[in-house]
Amino acid sequence: MGGTFRAILLEKAEGAPSRRVADLSDADLMEGDVTVAVSHSTINYKDGLALTGAAPVVRRWPMIPGIDFAGVVETSDHAGFNAGDGVVLNGWGTGETHLGGYATRARVKGDWLVPLPAAFTSAEAMAIGTAGYTAMLCVLALEKNGVVPGSGPVLVTGAAGGVGSVAIAVLSKLGYEVVASTGRTEEEDYLKNLGAASIIPRAELGGDVRALGKERWAGVVDSVGSKTLANAIGTTRYGGTVAACGLAQGMDLPGSVAPFILRGVTLAGIDSVMAPKAKRLEAWGRLATDLDKDKLAAMSRTVSLAEVMEMGPDILAGKVRGRVIVDVVA
Ligand code: NDP
Repeated sequence: MGGTFRAILLEKAEGAPSRRVADLSDADLMEGDVTVAVSHSTINYKDGLALTGAAPVVRRWPMIPGIDFAGVVETSDHAGFNAGDGVVLNGWGTGETHLGGYATRARVKGDWLVPLPAAFTSAEAMAIGTAGYTAMLCVLALEKNGVVPGSGPVLVTGAAGGVGSVAIAVLSKLGYEVVASTGRTEEEDYLKNLGAASIIPRAELGGDVRALGKERWAGVVDSVGSKTLANAIGTTRYGGTVAACGLAQGMDLPGSVAPFILRGVTLAGIDSVMAPKAKRLEAWGRLATDLDKDKLAAMSRTVSLAEVMEMGPDILAGKVRGRVIVDVVA
């Protein structure tokens, strides 16, 4: 199998990287033991950083962005995969140090791939994408720390975003009472249809930090960081758990140790990029059983390579609702 493939190519330039849809040759692909005919990718917050250059996530030039993809194996020298297998890739530096998913072909290490769950098409797997798989890692962390549906309300911050939307859908299906924190209160119907029991405005937790507030949450899925995360920790109930995965408000954590030493609150850090394979298989397996496909469809829309190329500023500004599938072949 050889020849050419189509991709978004980022090239280093003064200020923002230059970007274009380019026809590349297989000789441009990087090392790896599995070559995949990519059919779908998606846009995650980190892809927005790469497309715009707003943060230096790209560390190899030129770069094909796209931190995840789904497709079908074309050729494999890896014992775990054969030509024709459906596969999913999340993270491992694709779109940062290794050529990524905004392309019709990718060559990667087979160890990075997980089988496409039988429950999902490639498009559905990318409707979930890294954001949704990370949301499931957060849910697994809550469960591991003993947060069960009867424990009390679970707060989801950045609720109308990708991680937030999937977290709400999964938690509500599992029977949790979900409180959605959003800057887009006009999305109340959207969030309630995904399963949120109630909505709070983003400003309620996003302002000045109090070390300890009224105990409200049994668990938290936070994709926002900064003051919001600090206030979420400070309003978590005795013995509760906060899963922290994001930085949409900021990288800082301007809080106090008081919730940890006085309320026994657990802060669980969530990383999807280097997560071990067993964790990935667990998360994808749980997504197959615990994510309602109608809700997945309701939070998703599809764009082309040319369209996603211009979406970086929107996702960084928090303007993208739910999940966006990239049909790389369209
Ligand atoms: P999205 O842009 O889809 O969602 C982020 C949401 O955060 C927005 O929709 C918005 O929700 C809220 N938000 C945006 N800006 C602000 C702000 N200034 N203050 C408070 N809230 C804000 O991104 P994703 O869901 O794809 O990713 C969310 C975060 O999780 C990102 O920081 C990303 O880097 C991180 N992430 C981390 C991973 C990991 O491995 N740890 C993997 C995947 C993502 P609303 O409008 O409802 O308020």
